[in-house]
Amino acid sequence: MIRLYDTLAREKRPFVPLNPERITMYVCGPTVYGRAHIGNARPPVVFDTLARLIRHEFGEKSLTYARNVTDVDDKIIAAAEKEGVGYRVITERYYRDYLEDMGALGVAPPDFAPRATAYIPQMIDMIQRLLDGGHAYVAEGHVLFEVATDSDYGILSRRDRDAILAGARVEVAPYKRDPADFVLWKPAGESAEQVALSFPSPWGQGRPGWHIECSAMIEAFGGRQDAGHVETIDIHGGGLDLIFPHHENEIAQSRCAHAGAPLARFWVHNGFVDMGAEKMSKSLGNVVTPAELLAQGHRGETLRLALLSAHYRQPLPWTEALVEQSKAILDRLYRAAGDAPAGGIDSEVVDALSDDLNTPAALGRLHAIDDPAVLKASAGLLGLLSETADNWFRGGADEAAVETRIAERAEAKKSRDFATADRIREELKAEGIVLEDGPAGTTWRRE
Ligand SMILES: [Zn+2]
Repeated sequence: MIRLYDTLAREKRPFVPLNPERITMYVCGPTVYGRAHIGNARPPVVFDTLARLIRHEFGEKSLTYARNVTDVDDKIIAAAEKEGVGYRVITERYYRDYLEDMGALGVAPPDFAPRATAYIPQMIDMIQRLLDGGHAYVAEGHVLFEVATDSDYGILSRRDRDAILAGARVEVAPYKRDPADFVLWKPAGESAEQVALSFPSPWGQGRPGWHIECSAMIEAFGGRQDAGHVETIDIHGGGLDLIFPHHENEIAQSRCAHAGAPLARFWVHNGFVDMGAEKMSKSLGNVVTPAELLAQGHRGETLRLALLSAHYRQPLPWTEALVEQSKAILDRLYRAAGDAPAGGIDSEVVDALSDDLNTPAALGRLHAIDDPAVLKASAGLLGLLSETADNWFRGGADEAAVETRIAERAEAKKSRDFATADRIREELKAEGIVLEDGPAGTTWRRE
């Protein structure tokens, strides 16, 4: 039995899906205007791991996992204008990079990756229903959600009115009836790129607000033909920073458009990745990206293990030591698993993950597994040990060239030219290749 901490209920609850054969999970995906940093990588890695657990528990085909792509946003327009390129150059480049980075971290592609720009008619339709139901109003080319019409507003973040108005992201504007009201649709603006990234609507040329995007795409659930119209999904996930206002607003829109039906049965939020005492964020400029770390020679699996080393709801301080430690742990696990085929999965690893995705406990348990085949399969549930041990220790190196150097070194040693032998060893070490001399000759591995 999987138990998950539900932010709405403020407690761990047994995860009982509405339909165990068709479980639905939606996670808010990237806004594609810049390269993802390692903090942005935490939700995809965490929810990828949860998806693996759900599929293990309920069956490979039980889960439909959707992760959207926000490809309409003022930040995208700003990035395009700054570079002097069309917005599509920005969205295509950064989405491609995002998929590459997440792929390197062993994140499987979601079943559906709906792009906001492909769901504009669905958003317009939902906004119209909110207008018809008296939950929204039109003012100066904007459509706004009227928070006062939703008596449950604040249910997720448990904020009262004062706290909501104090929120940094509440924008005071003359066209709002109340400062807490939020945008469902806004006018296009006049710059070339603002016009390029805009759509016709009953309220004029414009763009959707960010929150309505997720509500409308969840309803369409990736446009899957057999899914039909979805009002309530099993799991809605994302980072802690999305609780307010984004998820609070998603809840309000969806419930008001669906006669009170809840949007999600479980709200699951991951904590931040911290740099020093601060949250890692683009606006603070204290970011490290997976792309940089990979370019430095770190392996994707090392970064994945680092991201899973703390419980997902806890803050994760990102340090070089954490990366080094994670590499050492993987070396040990790869050595223990060798090249065994994947066997059965250890029940204690499953139990640890089933307890609100307790990845530190699951990782700890891996060290106690004696059977290499069971270790391989159990680590696989966390998306680890996906390579052969041989590839982990030696992959990426030009094997023939290394063997040639080893032969040269053996020759040098034979003629008692130890200076040359040492130099070859040092040169290989600088390339990340470690030589080990044994009775049967010299073997090598990656550092
Ligand atoms: Zn969202």
